[in-house]
Amino acid sequence: MTMRAFRGEMLSVGRDPRHHPDAVEYQPDGLLVIEDGLVIARGAYADLAPRFSGIATEALSGLIVPGFVDAHIHYPQMDRIASHGEQLLDWLDRHIFPAEKAFAGRALADGVANGFLDELLRNGTTSALVFPTVHPQSVDALFDAGLVRQMRIISGKVLMDLGPDGLADTVATGRAETEALIRRWAQKGRLGYAVTPRFALSCSDAQMQAAGDILTAHPEVLLHTHLAENRHECAAVAQRFLGAIDYLDVYDSFGLVGARSVFAHGIHLPDRACARLAETGAGIAVCPSSNLFLGSGFFNFGQADAHGVRFGLGTDIGAGTSFSMMHTAGLAYQAALAREESLDPFRALYLATAASADLLHIADRVGALRVGQEADFTVLDYQATPLLARRTAGATLAERLFAMQILGDDRLVSRTYILGECAWDRATSAFAQPGVIAHAGADARP
Ligand SMILES: [Zn+2]
Repeated sequence: MTMRAFRGEMLSVGRDPRHHPDAVEYQPDGLLVIEDGLVIARGAYADLAPRFSGIATEALSGLIVPGFVDAHIHYPQMDRIASHGEQLLDWLDRHIFPAEKAFAGRALADGVANGFLDELLRNGTTSALVFPTVHPQSVDALFDAGLVRQMRIISGKVLMDLGPDGLADTVATGRAETEALIRRWAQKGRLGYAVTPRFALSCSDAQMQAAGDILTAHPEVLLHTHLAENRHECAAVAQRFLGAIDYLDVYDSFGLVGARSVFAHGIHLPDRACARLAETGAGIAVCPSSNLFLGSGFFNFGQADAHGVRFGLGTDIGAGTSFSMMHTAGLAYQAALAREESLDPFRALYLATAASADLLHIADRVGALRVGQEADFTVLDYQATPLLARRTAGATLAERLFAMQILGDDRLVSRTYILGECAWDRATSAFAQPGVIAHAGADARP
């Protein structure tokens, strides 16, 4: 048994402050006590210190928050971030599909997967729901890299039998490869599986039905796909599925809408679809930087709230323009304002942590730094840039949090911890495998 403690300013928002005014948990001088990777105590330092006086305590400067949970991101698109010129469907054809074809090669997939997970850690993200490519080896590469880092990574081979040459599977191979991957990776480390049809236009009716059958046979896995992102996409879906009430109804008719379904975007939804999402418990991964980059539109927070739809936040790299969930939270505020809604900075932090964890069905394990949860957290630096230092000096907690969301990027993150061990240290630019170099350079005290 290894026990250790961290002292510092701590903030988490484990429930939606819109419904729970007491959701914000804050200790200006807190103590977080960890045993074997789990939080066993958290509270004011003055209250807890006498109980844990014999434990090595490390002081961390900055704001300690739960590790971020990215509810929608594509790892093979990492190296196509910032590709110029088009909206969704043309952008896929011109920039993304050619890049994804290269993931037939395992060595390339390994290289990108490792660089991708390091980039998540540099941005304070410790859990993510990730699109790989159609190739099963792209899933193996990501899961192998996630297992080494002990990160909470959920992914699954992309199903796209109507995809372009070189990226199309078939109903039979898609089903067989998905089943084999579920068997291979079940119960390994902190990994999870998501059945991943790319989106309605990429899959035949038979393949979407197969995806529904797999979900029924494996109640522990998630469903991860895209929904109503772009107006041209929505028009094409309406044209192909003449019998469907709306875009969500297409997925519903194949058994793909349920409490474990995560739909990216959901920008252009009728009220009926929002009501159906709420009724089934399915959720939306809101991706504001991607929506702005591709000119897709703005998520309707007011409509979603009016219907009680669950939602979290995703970066949607490579249409998204930043790996930073803090920056993404700042853009969510701006997207909400574009529709005359206001997003509170504490609620934005909730969306980037516990709400996304809830979408991914891992909220019992991560997202709030609660006693019993896994000790994944990140340390945010108020002094990350000269401008941020000026703006946060003497400011209230809400002002400091909001300034970090609006002005912050990867430079905000001074440390990222996985299961209580330092996995990224900005001061030394070092990634550490958990348990290996965790204490290097630490301000350790007896
Ligand atoms: Zn996406």
